[in-house]
Amino acid sequence: MSQQIVLPRLLQIGAGASTQVGQILQSLGCSRPLIITDPMMVKLGYVERIQAHLPPSDVYADTVPEPTESSLRGGVARVRQGHYDCLIAVGGGSPIDSAKAISILGKYGGRMRDYKVPRIVNEPGIPVIAIPTTAGTGSEATRVTVITDDECDEKMLCLGLGFLPVAALVDYELTLSLPPRTTADTGIDALTHAIEAYVSRKANPYTDAQALQAMGLLAPNLRKAFHHGEDRAAREAMMLGATLAGIAFSNASVALVHGMSRPIGAFFHVPHGLSNAMLLPAVTAYSIPAATARYADCARAMGIAGASDADATANQKLLAELIALNTELQVPTPAAFGIDRARFFSLLPVMAEQALASGSPANNPRIPSAEDIVQLYQSLWD
Ligand code: NAD
Repeated sequence: MSQQIVLPRLLQIGAGASTQVGQILQSLGCSRPLIITDPMMVKLGYVERIQAHLPPSDVYADTVPEPTESSLRGGVARVRQGHYDCLIAVGGGSPIDSAKAISILGKYGGRMRDYKVPRIVNEPGIPVIAIPTTAGTGSEATRVTVITDDECDEKMLCLGLGFLPVAALVDYELTLSLPPRTTADTGIDALTHAIEAYVSRKANPYTDAQALQAMGLLAPNLRKAFHHGEDRAAREAMMLGATLAGIAFSNASVALVHGMSRPIGAFFHVPHGLSNAMLLPAVTAYSIPAATARYADCARAMGIAGASDADATANQKLLAELIALNTELQVPTPAAFGIDRARFFSLLPVMAEQALASGSPANNPRIPSAEDIVQLYQSLWD
């Protein structure tokens, strides 16, 4: 059986990659870009730094973290008025996902819910060139965007070639300014992508190679980047690891952690990486019996188990490490984050339904029932 792998047409990786944006535009035959970003990127001077390497370019800087459909309207209107031939997304996953959605809505119209799974959006939008500033989502290399439906608080998963950037400029220097909390949340997101891609039922030899390499880069450097944000070698490893993890999961799918994480994010406004982190140890413990060898490989790739460790030992070491990582990176429990317990419990059936509807749990090595998902959510409060 063959597998299809999809990737951005161009990947520019390393220190200063973002300054190559002018040449990248030229090689794509684009000359009228709209930069899509958030206010922090303007404040940090990143937008100006990128504009210095471009023909005169307009900026839309009103994207919001964890984008909702209503937050995209201003961007869609700008695209419709402006005759732009490409969009340059500068920022974390939120501006990149916003740009992907604006690209499709700007070209084809409609509501974002028209484009959510199970529909696959393969029609080309306005080309997106992604310049990530977090080492996290991998959105610069994925055929995915995640947009919340304001009307029902559903974080909608949208998939297809139409959401794949044509180029990604992966410049770790842009992550040196990330504060520790965002470094931790986005770094655990990337690690979760790599683990879930590797244990996914849709994994294949190509995605395995990307995922294992990503784990080897991310796991030993996450604590370093969190405690010492100026550590360039750690930042470089995290950035490359996040992009490789994005390539892995975009082609192998994520699984139960992500399926359960989106409803927590949508209903309780928990940053995406943080809700993944809250779930990762419990979901891993639940899933290990169905894929002991695969999870043992993860522990070895992360450098926390040796080649001589039996799979069962490596599995235990993996669980211990995921718990220790959450402690050291100060990942709060749902209660400590301030989530209202009664509301959380009242929403459990809806959250389980949304998780299953996203399709991600079906990629998990152990496929959960709605009841299993409810129990896993409840276990976060034990
Ligand atoms: P983000 O883009 O929401 O950014 C978080 C915060 O960090 C923002 O306030 C931002 O301004 C700030 N920030 C970003 N880069 C910075 C830098 N270099 N220095 C200082 N501050 C900086 O965070 P994220 O985790 O990258 O993205 C989360 C979004 O990505 C969610 O909506 C999630 O659902 C989505 N996501 C998408 C994919 C995909 O494949 N499309 C995968 C995973 C997650």
